[in-house]
Amino acid sequence: MVPKPKILLHVCCAVCGALMLKILRERFEPIVFYSNSNIHPEEEYRKRLEAAKKLALENEAEFIEDRYDPAAWYEAVSGLEKEPEGGKRCPVCFALRLGRTAAEAKRLNIRFFTTTLSASLHKNEHYIDQLGKTIAEETETEFIAFAEICPDKKDSWKKASEISREAGFYRQKYCGCEFSNQN
Ligand code: SF4
Repeated sequence: MVPKPKILLHVCCAVCGALMLKILRERFEPIVFYSNSNIHPEEEYRKRLEAAKKLALENEAEFIEDRYDPAAWYEAVSGLEKEPEGGKRCPVCFALRLGRTAAEAKRLNIRFFTTTLSASLHKNEHYIDQLGKTIAEETETEFIAFAEICPDKKDSWKKASEISREAGFYRQKYCGCEFSNQN
């Protein structure tokens, strides 16, 4: 049997990854990559990390944790602290994490990568797909667009939520950075 190609799947949280990982397994051998230096505080980072590890384990996928480097994230978004969620800070945050995912794919000699960021109903999947493709061109990798994996976003979100509820995955109450946490 011909082995399936590997794909590096950037996972922002287990809930967003719940359905995408299952679907990707049909065509690929996914490796979960947790690269989320945006998450604040560290305690929250660790809760999402443990949930992502559980997701990988339940799907028999390899798991890689990137370095947690909040200082690099704060430097990247410097001057954009007052932007609202969905404003100018978010594209920088996406680019940082997707850039690190593409670099890791390159380092591991993996041709394909993608991200669970697009699964959230709060995120613009068209923008993220375009960004992923641009980064892929720059790094000579290949980005798999969200619509290729989950053509019906609302239905996919419903299914991902059901899977997550059944699996008991931790469900966060805010996007991730301290500026998105209103508590
Ligand atoms: S609101 Fe979310 S996507 Fe935007 S900068 Fe904060 S963590 Fe990143």
